[in-house]
Amino acid sequence: MTTNSELAKRRDAAIVRGVRNILPNVYTERALNAELWDVEGKRYIDFAAGIAVLNVGHNHPKVVAAAEAQLRKYTHLCFQVTPYEPYVELAEKLNALVPGKSPKKTLFLTTGAEAVENAIKIARYATGRPGVVAFSGAFHGRTMLGMALTGKVNPYKAGFGPLLPEVFHAPFPIPYHGVSVEDSIRALDHLFKSEIDPSRVAAVIIEPVLGEGGFYAAPPEFLKKLRAICDEHKIVFIADEIQTGFARTGKMFAIEHAGVEPDIMTLAKSLGGGWPLSAVTGKAEIMDAPAPGGLGGTYAGPPVACAAALAVLEIIEKETLMQRATAIGKLMHARIETMSKKLPCIGEIRSLGAMVSMELVKDRKTAEPDADLVTALVQAVAKKGLVILPCGVRGNVIRYLVPLTASDALINEGMDIVETTLTELAR
Ligand code: PMP
Repeated sequence: MTTNSELAKRRDAAIVRGVRNILPNVYTERALNAELWDVEGKRYIDFAAGIAVLNVGHNHPKVVAAAEAQLRKYTHLCFQVTPYEPYVELAEKLNALVPGKSPKKTLFLTTGAEAVENAIKIARYATGRPGVVAFSGAFHGRTMLGMALTGKVNPYKAGFGPLLPEVFHAPFPIPYHGVSVEDSIRALDHLFKSEIDPSRVAAVIIEPVLGEGGFYAAPPEFLKKLRAICDEHKIVFIADEIQTGFARTGKMFAIEHAGVEPDIMTLAKSLGGGWPLSAVTGKAEIMDAPAPGGLGGTYAGPPVACAAALAVLEIIEKETLMQRATAIGKLMHARIETMSKKLPCIGEIRSLGAMVSMELVKDRKTAEPDADLVTALVQAVAKKGLVILPCGVRGNVIRYLVPLTASDALINEGMDIVETTLTELAR
């Protein structure tokens, strides 16, 4: 039998250290729904879902069947050479699902970062303007542009510069850390006076809930104000729903909680149900701006991933996963609330549907971050068979991304592990 430590040794010798493993000693043999088993037969409850990729769980039978059926027909053609139906059908579905009455069009790619890159390319082409405004704490990918847009220096940007010009950051409103909606709007206004005239800004890009940045939801009134500012200055409003999309927050897309129609949406992660697939969906008149040949990619919108994504959308509807996300969020929020009564290290609990997090602090009054406790908790619960993820600009947030197909019993089993372990560590 190959052991985890043997594989970890081979990994260290063969693979760059720049790719970090959260659990370097867990090598998975197989996975099903919200559980996985490592090469030594140890079982884990999976609250990470491949970082928000498996809203329908590992190996959902319908996703597997759809992908298998497609595998037997053809695996690759390249849409730019000979187009194929699954790409077209999935685009039609996304055009209908993305909020707002304006007619929509879609472009498929492979990764989230690539979707972000293309959304900005389209916005620049459509407006003829260079500038892009993103937010502090944001994560938009690891490519040159994704990195420039990302609002966290270490480990994403440091040492990789020079970064792309014409990218600016405004503070994301986080009342818990003393940044109100008014503060953010004022800072944006100041940015438009001191750094770049709004008439030179092509796009504003925002995650409706900061993902890697700490699971802070943008207040609906902020998103509405941002929409109004974009309208006033004819700036393209891009919602990055790569982590928040596909029923995670209790609605198909998180921006729906604010009742705002973005001009463009970037999508990835749970769209492909485990296959690499991303999309840019937006208002047709903007999306159609770039000339033929300006957009695409050899693997962009691969057939097997499109077939899997069609199954994902069907599962979300048939298994009513939006309602389930709301129920999961309530259950987990209540569990953490109970814990927080005896554990003052839990500074704040946040949830929008099943996008649930707890912020760990050294002191509730000052909200001083406790990143060491988050690191210790992630490792300690893994020893007991639970996979959870850290996040946050200060590294002190635990985020829960439970597959929306997980049972209450499994979720409670996982939360029991969190509760006992955090109680032991906080002693
Ligand atoms: N945007 C957001 C909001 C993300 O969460 C991520 C990935 N964590 C990305 C973009 C980049 O996606 P990918 O890793 O697939 O390039």
